[in-house]
Amino acid sequence: MDMERDEFGVCASCGAMEGMKHMRNCEHYPKPALDVGAHYRWEIRRRITDTDIARGWVRVKLDPYRICRVAGVGGGPHEHATKKLLRGEAKGHEARELIREARACLDRWQEMLDEDEEEAACR
Ligand SMILES: [Zn+2]
Repeated sequence: MDMERDEFGVCASCGAMEGMKHMRNCEHYPKPALDVGAHYRWEIRRRITDTDIARGWVRVKLDPYRICRVAGVGGGPHEHATKKLLRGEAKGHEARELIREARACLDRWQEMLDEDEEEAACR
């Protein structure tokens, strides 16, 4: 007998009787295994055409805009910083310049949050 059930096998939280599963909102309802990396696993689905099948492969452009959309990075400075970091040192940018540019985007993002918070407090 489960520890969470009374002497008659009834759950004190959800009332599930002996042999019954706990209700979904019951504290004793089995919890799914925690997937700690779920927020890093994005996917996109694309319909496969007859041409794709004949060719044997499908191309999906992974430009910063697509990546940001799939990852749920809304526009503004967050997207701008992400775009810069994805670009990295390509196009002749040095690491320190890249860090400075990304930091400027993040600083502005933080500044905007502060401004919004300040504005909300004035209402
Ligand atoms: Zn229960």
